[in-house]
Amino acid sequence: MSNDITNEGGGIIVTKLDDLMNWSRLSSLWPLSFGIACCAIEMMGSMASTYDLDRFGVFPRPSARQADVIIIAGTVTFKMAERIKRLYEQMPEPKYVISMGSCSNCGGPYWQHGYHVVKGVDRIIPVDIYVQGCPPRPEALIGGILELQKKIEGEHLMRDKGAVTA
Ligand code: SF4
Repeated sequence: MSNDITNEGGGIIVTKLDDLMNWSRLSSLWPLSFGIACCAIEMMGSMASTYDLDRFGVFPRPSARQADVIIIAGTVTFKMAERIKRLYEQMPEPKYVISMGSCSNCGGPYWQHGYHVVKGVDRIIPVDIYVQGCPPRPEALIGGILELQKKIEGEHLMRDKGAVTA
């Protein structure tokens, strides 16, 4: 089966279906609006008018079932861990995780003595992108989102699912 999808102006433009799918997915990332501690303030700032995440196609969703990325912005306590896992499981595939800030990356200031804190959200769910800082500035989160978009650009969803054969 051919992957050619367009033929314009006499020349042949060959675009893999993968590329089209990836372009549409990376251009309309929908993060679950879910903040759990002070990092969430910076995440909210990223979505406000000054930094304007909308211009990257990033628009928060109120439901895990509509989201394709979850930004873990804050301290992951053991009590919260089960909820985070459940929300992640409710998200449809393909889905991604951004760990925002030191707490989520490794326990942050609670790393040594925080008996109530999970020492990294990657102990509960798989993380695609780590954003450093305590808290990270909006620019850092935007950098993480651009990294994620780069990652999505290189994926082979259609081929891996067996929907297209070259
Ligand atoms: Fe708060 Fe720092 Fe932890 Fe972010 S990394 S939740 S700013 S203590």
